[in-house]
Amino acid sequence: MNPIKITIAGPRGRMGKEAVKLVEETEHFQLISMLDRKQPEKETTIPVFTNIEECFQSEKPDVLIDLTTPEVGYVHTKTALEYGVRPVVGTTGFTSVELEELKAISEEKQLGCIIAPNFAVGAVLMMKFSKMAAKYFEDVEILEMHHDQKLDAPSGTAVKTAEMIREQRNLKQQGHPNEKETIDGARGANIDGMHIHSIRLPGLVAHQQVMFGADGQALTIKHDSFHRGSFMSGVKVCVDTIMTLETLVYGLENILD
Ligand code: NAP
Repeated sequence: MNPIKITIAGPRGRMGKEAVKLVEETEHFQLISMLDRKQPEKETTIPVFTNIEECFQSEKPDVLIDLTTPEVGYVHTKTALEYGVRPVVGTTGFTSVELEELKAISEEKQLGCIIAPNFAVGAVLMMKFSKMAAKYFEDVEILEMHHDQKLDAPSGTAVKTAEMIREQRNLKQQGHPNEKETIDGARGANIDGMHIHSIRLPGLVAHQQVMFGADGQALTIKHDSFHRGSFMSGVKVCVDTIMTLETLVYGLENILD
C-alpha cells in the first residue's frame, strides 16, 4: 500500500506539533510538506511553504491537515478542494455559511472533506450521550472550558453538542420565561433556548460539561482533554477514512461506528 501523502498547516502550533509527531510516527503516513505563516529559522528536511498554491503546485499531497485559525483554515480548506487535495480540518470557528460553501465544493468535486471540531473520541461520546439524554431531559445548559489562547467562543464542540441535542429535545427557552439579564451576557450564548457558558483560563486544555436538570434530579455528562495527544487518534481515523469519502463530513461522530 502506498503511503498517504500529507501536508500539515500550522505545524508550529500546539495541535500542529502533535499532528507532525503523529504523521511521522505512523507507518502508512508520509509528511511531504508543511504550510506555515513564516519560514523556519533552521533548515528542515520537510519543505515549508508560506503560500498554499505554491505548496500544492510543487508537492501534491493526498491530504491536508489544517490546524490554524478560522480565517486561514477556511481559505486553506477551499483551496485544497480546488486543487483536488482532501482536507482534514481540526480548526474551529467556521461560520455556517462557510460550511455550506465548502460542502457544495466538496460535492461538486466529489472529494472527501472532514471538518471535526473535536477529534477526541471521548468528546464524541459525550455528545452522543447528551443527545440520548435530551430525549428524557429537556432542561439543559452547556459549560465549556478552554485555555485562554483559544480564539473562538463558544467552542465548536459546544455548538455541535447543542445542534445534536436539538435533534432530540422539545424546543424550550431555558430558565424563567421572564428572566432578565441585569448584566449583558450573564446567561451566556443562546442556541435554540439552550445556554452555552464559555470559560477561558490558562492551564485548561479542552473540557465540557453538559448539565441536565429535572424535578429532584440532575445528570452531568463531562469530558476532559488533559493534553493535545488526546486528539490524535481521531486525526488518524479521519486521515484513513477521508481517502474513501466523496462528500463533506462534519463531526467525528459521523465517522466512528
Ligand atoms: P495555535 O497553537 O495558535 O496554532 C495555530 C498555528 O497556526 C500557529 O502556529 C500559527 O502561527 C499558525 N498559522 C497562523 N496563520 C497561518 C497561516 N497563514 N498558514 C499557516 N499557519 C498559520 O492553536 P492550536 O491550539 O494549535 O489550535 C489550532 C486550531 O485547532 C484552533 O482553531 C483550535 O480551536 C483548533 N483545535 C481543534 C481541536 C480538535 O479536536 N478539532 C482541538 C484543539 C484545538 P503563528 O503563531 O505564527 O500565528
